[in-house]
Amino acid sequence: MKIKRNILLNPGPATTTDTVKMAQVVPDICPREKEFASMMKKMREDLVRIVHGDLSRYTSVLFCGSGTINIDICLNSLLPAGKKVLVVNNGAYSTRAAEICEYYGLPFIDLKFPVDEQPDLDTIERTLQEHPDIALVHTTHNETGTGILNPIREIGALVHRYGAVFTVDTTSTYAMRPIDIEKDNIDFCMASAQKGLMAMTGLSFIVGNTEIIKKSADYPKRSYYCNLYLQYHFFETTGEMHFTPPVQTIYAVRQALDEYFAEGEEAKWQRHLSVFEAIHAGLERLGFQDLIRRELQAGLVVSVKYPDDTNWDFEKVHDYCYERGFTIYPGKVSTQSTFRLCALGAITAKDIEDFFGVLKEALQVYSIKIPVSYEK
Ligand SMILES: *Cc1c(COP(=O)(O)O)cnc(C)c1O
Repeated sequence: MKIKRNILLNPGPATTTDTVKMAQVVPDICPREKEFASMMKKMREDLVRIVHGDLSRYTSVLFCGSGTINIDICLNSLLPAGKKVLVVNNGAYSTRAAEICEYYGLPFIDLKFPVDEQPDLDTIERTLQEHPDIALVHTTHNETGTGILNPIREIGALVHRYGAVFTVDTTSTYAMRPIDIEKDNIDFCMASAQKGLMAMTGLSFIVGNTEIIKKSADYPKRSYYCNLYLQYHFFETTGEMHFTPPVQTIYAVRQALDEYFAEGEEAKWQRHLSVFEAIHAGLERLGFQDLIRRELQAGLVVSVKYPDDTNWDFEKVHDYCYERGFTIYPGKVSTQSTFRLCALGAITAKDIEDFFGVLKEALQVYSIKIPVSYEK
């Protein structure tokens, strides 16, 4: 079977290999069979290995859902009674975490920083000092809305100095930018199969400290479907997901994990970086400007400012590229109109060169001046 290859430059789902796509086509199986449980067991261990977690101290818990389910689960499950969450917020995904706290009625502090700057460590420390009831600190590793990289190791060191638990949304770095769960001072990180693993949507997972999960058994129960301890306990006692898993997606993830380890952590990261560099080179040739200072970018997402040209129309440019197999994506910043080009997925620098050929054509077809211009 020949499957059309689309180059997805959106921030996930990412372009997958054909072998991962085809891995979903398997004989029907009931996921309560031992064969399926043994695949899940190995998968849970492999997910911990990706962030170099020691299997005697770290575990992973799988859920059926998109990546946001992980943020929901960590926040609602890991907060002891009478304690507070601190969200270190410089972008759309940490704002989502703050909204989750709001929906659950959790006491929380939304510590906001500008979207184009890293959070200020002194301000975080002062907040921890002033609020000794903070038991859980959450932030985002790579704010996918802008592409900024947050200093999680430094934030995590502060969090631990003040005795709190550190949850990090690593959805857009996991299995791309190398992470060491222990050295990076992370208690819980998380991701979804369709991003760094380059598999299918529908499976999300939290990797974290087993002792803390066990301790959370006594914390207030705020959700049934989205409770970390309940799902962990079910996995440990039965080897299965509590409720029906996304069976075919899991077969694709198995294949994607094999391909991840075959490519290798460092080689994969270098490939993503080469795609990122190619994106920057192409943008520079056409005169486009970045939103985030280059040295703060995580190496995976580029936020590009709309040019000041009356003929610029993102939708038209998007459609032109889309019809030719390249997907670009709108931005997620309220103060500035941007679009995004991402280095996720099974793509190479050559795909990016091809993309810029098409983007240039689109600019010419719609009479957008090249190089593009900005008023200031
Ligand atoms: C993609 C992503 C998510 C998950 O988003 P869903 O729409 O639920 O898949 C969460 N956090 C970050 C940082 C992401 O990039």
